Amino acid sequence: PIYLDYAATTPVDARVAAKMIPYLTELFGNPASRSHAYGWAAEEAVEIAREQVAALVGADPKEIVWTSGATESNNLAIKGAARFHAGRGKHLITPRTEHKSVLDTCRELEREGFEVTYLDVESDGLIDLDKLTAAIRPDTILISTMLVNNEIGVIQDVAAIGALCRARGIIYHVDAAQAAGKVEIDLSATPIDLLSLSAHKTYGPKGIGALYVRRKPRVRLEALIHGGGHERGLRSGTLPTHQIVGMGEAYALARGSMSTENERIRWLRDRLWAGLSAMEEVYLNGNIDARVPHNLNVSFNYVEGESLLMGIKQLAVSSGSACTSASLEPSYVLRALGRSDELAHSSIRFSIGRFTTQAEVDTTIALVTEAVAKLRELSPLWEM
Ligand code: PLP
Repeated sequence: PIYLDYAATTPVDARVAAKMIPYLTELFGNPASRSHAYGWAAEEAVEIAREQVAALVGADPKEIVWTSGATESNNLAIKGAARFHAGRGKHLITPRTEHKSVLDTCRELEREGFEVTYLDVESDGLIDLDKLTAAIRPDTILISTMLVNNEIGVIQDVAAIGALCRARGIIYHVDAAQAAGKVEIDLSATPIDLLSLSAHKTYGPKGIGALYVRRKPRVRLEALIHGGGHERGLRSGTLPTHQIVGMGEAYALARGSMSTENERIRWLRDRLWAGLSAMEEVYLNGNIDARVPHNLNVSFNYVEGESLLMGIKQLAVSSGSACTSASLEPSYVLRALGRSDELAHSSIRFSIGRFTTQAEVDTTIALVTEAVAKLRELSPLWEM
């Protein structure tokens, strides 16, 4: 099948895999072993990777904490900050369109006695700053928003939200899992306190990520995982050197290729959208301008989502109805934009990446156009 699901995960770039392999075999030392060369070699590799990850987001390497991925980073950021600062207040704000790893973490904190405002977003998926400001209370301690949405690809104005938080002494956490390597992030100039990263969305391995924790002004967190005191006590556990080396290399590659890669992907995206929007009753989900070129989330009116997926089996894409696998619930993100159940159900997320070709895009247009036409012919609602 043609892979157009880069927002779910990406293949490990061959150059990344090549860098990782020696750290599985010869250079297998524990980075915490301070008494011999095996440990030193591993520690050096970990610190180089820390610099590479920091460089992509304009951070100091000392501000990077290794985790198992963005899910853990989101948990550590939100639970860690909320629990540490609970004495100051117990109110959090996050939009309804966040990833489950943020929303479910907030639900867990509600069970611990915190209060969470789940903010509505506009019909284009963006946060209205006035509505966010109105939701702030004297006891608000943390606001968490993503930078790039995983389902619809829209980009939030994190600089403006950060400024708003900074002026009020509110901790600002950003989930940047879908943003790293796609949009410029400069933490040295942006008032973000905590930022979650993942390797596998950016051509690195699964199971490794990082949390940026600002040092100036210092952001304090309570650890979730206790043990040997690794990562300055914030996240204990033996560091997976090969995974870390992979994330570092993947981020270094992204830093070098981001602008040319974005241009190519934008061209492919425009071609795909031109092809799909040549059909009638096709709707783009999410703001048309404030979005990464890697994502095209489209609803096809008058077709049934499950049947559409069956009709395009040669395409590896995500659907707004099958997202949470077992359930047939329509996407909560599309529902939050005010899309009807029908349009949410009949949506497809096409996500384009480093290895997508023009031929794949053209085949995709042909397959989807054929499948949609066929299904509409059978539909009693379609009379055009
Ligand atoms: N946040 C967002 C926006 C995501 O898209 C994902 C990926 O599914 C995650 C968090 C979770 O990342 P990970 O798979 O590294 O735990």
